[in-house]
Amino acid sequence: MNQPVEKGTLYVISAPSGAGKTSLVGEMIQADPRLGVSVSHTTRLMRQGEQDGINYHFVTRDQFEAMILRGEFLEHADVFGNYYGTSRVWVEQTLARGRDVILEIDWQGAAQVRRLLPDCVGIFIVPPSAAVLRARLTDRGTDAPEVVERRLDEAAEECRHALEFDYLVVNDDFGEALSQLLSIVTSQRLRIDRQEIRHQGLLSELMAGDHGHHG
Ligand code: 5GP
Repeated sequence: MNQPVEKGTLYVISAPSGAGKTSLVGEMIQADPRLGVSVSHTTRLMRQGEQDGINYHFVTRDQFEAMILRGEFLEHADVFGNYYGTSRVWVEQTLARGRDVILEIDWQGAAQVRRLLPDCVGIFIVPPSAAVLRARLTDRGTDAPEVVERRLDEAAEECRHALEFDYLVVNDDFGEALSQLLSIVTSQRLRIDRQEIRHQGLLSELMAGDHGHHG
């Protein structure tokens, strides 16, 4: 009998910047080899310490727009003046191979993915307070006040969409937030539709009610 192919689960994780999303997702990937994170395409400039193909695929606006026209994005959005998008083929192929996929995207992209793939699991991460968020976005006081205000406005805009997600994780203690994220992954894997596939043999044996007598 053919073993049914167990498709991976798609996790959509959003957060205001300053919530620690990228570090948390990095640790999730380290902790669980069955999790993979999608590398987005973006038109924004590369920041210090970033690498093309690792943090993002950095492309021009022309390249990005050509990809939109070719239907290469599962979702894409203009986030604060730059394009960001998720490769459709990579996500579909990775899920089809049975790996779980994490998308680290903004609320607009999350809404598009939710419409296309209603089985996805949405997780929103927040900082423990507005004061902590402000401190994390203030960068040792070196930014102009209007830059800090703009970041706070953008963070508030993202947070206004928190209730559209399935889970909320508060990143006060990093280790605790990480373990909560991994618990969400574990609980998805224990869902009956997943377990039914994995434990088909066991369930049929138990349902047959032969009380463990063989032969
Ligand atoms: P940053 O430029 O700081 O790396 O990311 C800015 C925002 O863009 C974050 O909220 C991030 O989640 C979002 N983002 C990153 N990649 C994607 C993507 O592929 N699609 C969408 N919709 N948003 C993304």
